[in-house]
Amino acid sequence: MRIPCPYCGERNSGEFVYRGDAAPMRPEGAEGLFDYVYLRENPAGPLREHWYHAQGCRNWIEVTRDTRNHVISGAILAREARR
Ligand SMILES: [Zn+2]
Repeated sequence: MRIPCPYCGERNSGEFVYRGDAAPMRPEGAEGLFDYVYLRENPAGPLREHWYHAQGCRNWIEVTRDTRNHVISGAILAREARR
């Protein structure tokens, strides 16, 4: 799979570390922390994911990938992603 890093361009996925679903937001307190850490949706379709370009620019990026066919429809720097 090729991932289009917004900073480096299209690179092999082996250069990246996968973090997972980008949607969950860390709760302020302890309440909801279990769900944040352990519970994830597993949708069949587009999913926003965090990837770390460990062997490149070392930026976190948010990739929109279709989980059914791995087609990537977008990638932006995570710090610029909507919250
Ligand atoms: Zn990069």
